Amino acid sequence: MTRVFLASRNEKKLVEMRRILRGFVPDVEVLGLDDVTAYDEPAETEPTFEGNALIKAHAAVLATGLPSLADDSGLCVDALNGMPGVLSARWAGTAKDDKANNELLLEQLADVPDERRGAQFRCAVAFAYPVGAAGVAEHVVHGIMPGRIIREMRGSGGFGYDVLFVADGHDQTSAELPADEKDAVSHRGMALREIAPTVADVLAGL
Ligand code: IMP
Repeated sequence: MTRVFLASRNEKKLVEMRRILRGFVPDVEVLGLDDVTAYDEPAETEPTFEGNALIKAHAAVLATGLPSLADDSGLCVDALNGMPGVLSARWAGTAKDDKANNELLLEQLADVPDERRGAQFRCAVAFAYPVGAAGVAEHVVHGIMPGRIIREMRGSGGFGYDVLFVADGHDQTSAELPADEKDAVSHRGMALREIAPTVADVLAGL
């Protein structure tokens, strides 16, 4: 069995990434941060999802020596000029307070009519792996899930802003969709399906 490292502290994101990846790269052992020796995780200082995903994947390879995947993702709301974007996790101030983030989003969009409540989940997934004596090879792919922000929180699955987001072509929020239906249309599903063949090739060559 070959091993790949997922550089994330977000348990729910890890669950999604493991589930999607295993569908395309069978027999892979997927390690999370709790399975490796602790290291200094880099600050996400870039203004783009791609930049931050690359920072995380690169640091993960240097720390673990393992082929490593990192996702940087967020919600981009049309009526807020693309915010909260890369700041999605800590938009309400405290890192990863989903309830506060969702309450702030509802408040900010209170006066925005239904026809202007469009939004997209976006993500960049970076895959980095050791090459040669001290090199690191890197690939990045992108995913997007277009939809809209509703007016009340619904559902208990997923994480983050899922309770307020309805993907195009659906009536349920992404917190109400069964996991496999979210994966089929999600930004993360799209990106991981694209990178999966590269991950499989690299792991097969180890
Ligand atoms: P990151 O860990 O810096 O990539 O932060 C991602 C943040 O974006 C999460 O904490 C959520 O608030 C939001 N987010 C990203 N993907 C999703 C998703 O699939 N559903 C709901 N919220 C998401």
